[in-house]
Amino acid sequence: MITSIDIKKTLLYIFLAFIFSFALRLTWYYTFNTYEPFLHNGTLMLTTNDSYYWAEGARDLLAGFHQDNDLSPVHRSTAIFTAFVAQLMPFFSLESVMLFLPALLSSLIVVPIILIARSLQNLEMGLIAALLASIANSYYNRTMMGYLDTDMLNILLPVLLIWSLVLAIRTNHNRYLIITAIEIIAYRWWYPQSYSLEFAFFALLLFYVLVWDRKNLFNYKLLAMMVVAMMGADIYIRSIASVALFILFLDRRSDRFTPHILGVSVLVFILLGGINPILHQLNNYVFRDSVAKAQDGMGLHFFEVMQTIKEAGKIPFEAFATRISGHTITFIVSLIGYAYLLYRHRIILLTLPLLGLGFLALSGGLRFTIYAVPVLAIGVAFLITEIARKMPTPRLKFLSATLLALLVLLPNITHIVDYKAPVVFAQSEVSVLDNLKEIADREDYAVAWWDYGYPIRYFSDVKTLIDGGKHSGHHNFGTSFVLTSPQEVAAKMARLDVEFTERGFKLKEQDKNITLHSTIEEMTKFYGLNDTNDFLTSLQTDIELPKKSRDIYLYLPYRMLDIYPTIEAFSALDLMSGKSLKRSLFYAAPTYRQEEHLVRLSSSITFDMKQGVVVMNGKAIKVRNFTRTRYTEDGKLVKEVDTISQDGEVNIIYMASQNRFVLLDNRAYNSLYVKLFILEEYDTNLFESVTLTPSAKVFKLKI
Ligand code: MN
Repeated sequence: MITSIDIKKTLLYIFLAFIFSFALRLTWYYTFNTYEPFLHNGTLMLTTNDSYYWAEGARDLLAGFHQDNDLSPVHRSTAIFTAFVAQLMPFFSLESVMLFLPALLSSLIVVPIILIARSLQNLEMGLIAALLASIANSYYNRTMMGYLDTDMLNILLPVLLIWSLVLAIRTNHNRYLIITAIEIIAYRWWYPQSYSLEFAFFALLLFYVLVWDRKNLFNYKLLAMMVVAMMGADIYIRSIASVALFILFLDRRSDRFTPHILGVSVLVFILLGGINPILHQLNNYVFRDSVAKAQDGMGLHFFEVMQTIKEAGKIPFEAFATRISGHTITFIVSLIGYAYLLYRHRIILLTLPLLGLGFLALSGGLRFTIYAVPVLAIGVAFLITEIARKMPTPRLKFLSATLLALLVLLPNITHIVDYKAPVVFAQSEVSVLDNLKEIADREDYAVAWWDYGYPIRYFSDVKTLIDGGKHSGHHNFGTSFVLTSPQEVAAKMARLDVEFTERGFKLKEQDKNITLHSTIEEMTKFYGLNDTNDFLTSLQTDIELPKKSRDIYLYLPYRMLDIYPTIEAFSALDLMSGKSLKRSLFYAAPTYRQEEHLVRLSSSITFDMKQGVVVMNGKAIKVRNFTRTRYTEDGKLVKEVDTISQDGEVNIIYMASQNRFVLLDNRAYNSLYVKLFILEEYDTNLFESVTLTPSAKVFKLKI
């Protein structure tokens, strides 16, 4: 029986855990909310690149317009939801809503955790688990302030689903039928990739019912509701069908048809292709950008971005355990507690899909650890309450539970206090983008590396070629080529890539089924060639460029210095054969040490200023230019170029204002990025400077 004390205690625990979770997230806010470089219009900026994607969509939804093919996610749930919340809160700016929303929504995870524990008559377990789950390392990292991304509900929604399934099985109340359906529909709306997890819940529930609770008709109603809510149909159809089925189930006369209803539902589910995605889904989870489509056309080879994303790599066990539970020992103890809890409460089996997905992290990358967090938090919390229960006096019970809970929480709290995550774009960069917004038209393009795509679109509201979601090898090729090639061919490629990207959109609008290849392939064919190498060579001649449809700006930030070699990799390959071409030498030393005339750039690279050579792995190479740059008080670049040897093969640039040495060969020295950003030696026939600051520069393309 549920008593009123029980309800009050539940609410109190939920309140306490929520405040705890939210307050800890505020520590980041109070650390930085007066730190000028992190502020934009007086508000702290966002903490993950992807958040600017949703921010762009929310901004456009609130404005009520956006441009064709600007890739703004106005139809995506996270943007819609953010805009909706912002509209409910007219006294808060969109920026503040986006900053606080992840911290508030993710803290709601405490609600289903405490409710699940309540149904197991162990509220204290719920409180301890909620405290831990809401702040454990990986959950915190991906739901901190400003981390506006799907993660803010991605864990909460399946835990809510577990709660309603547990309650449905344990109480057989009809209301949990419709609640389960609503949750599945909401979860799918929020995160379409949730499908395989829903399916795992369904399969596990089916297993549970068949093994332990076969005779109970209610269970088959629950399974039917799940199948209908999961069907491969439009969200409206699934909603209407779920409500209709629920109404049908409320009528006891339908009971004898329940098996038939379930049978028909499963049949429709399969006919609508319900099983198909499961077979391939795992791959999609592991490789967000699935393998490139079948290559008809010229069968070009591109450099794949997954080769450069750290997140997708394997992680060591200790990092894995720490991210889930805050400490390896806690993690192991949690597993023991979880096993014990399973033994005591079979129904907890329903949490297995989340735990399994969490373990995918061991092979699939860090981002999956977050799924195991609430499950293992419940595991360790159960163990703690069991130990406390064995204590002889109430006082000792309370003390032991409190002490153990603190012990488990402490590493996670320390992590939060120490985790000084920066905002993704600093004020100095954003002011350059604010300025670009003033002068550029919304149909204009900003050409920049994909890492900067979303923030550029949010702050400047221009179009981009590549971004955090559009960065396959073939998308990146053109931009990589532009940034790392000599100015003239780079300028032509920038114009071509933009015009051919827009041409692709137009052709797709005219004929949905048209097969379009990479822009580089389309360009090659357009100029009547069938070898991309011939086409790229022809860029050095006086080819006729397509008609200019809009302005193009180049966004070149200082921070690109450190990823130049990675960027180059995307165009330093023979697209016809897939063979890598010789990469240029480009080394931006993170630090250096000077001993009189010797500058040590790394353990194997020394710049000898007296001799004018660079010694690399014991081999001396003549230096052509030794260039020193610095910025004056008012931000003007001043430069001294010393030509040491006309036939030198390498160059040294010392950027005094940033105190950085760059070692680079002649090819890299002549690249667009180096000439325009570092040296400001731009061809005035091709480019016009728009904004020149030490942190980022914008140039307008003249051709
Ligand atoms: Mn736009």
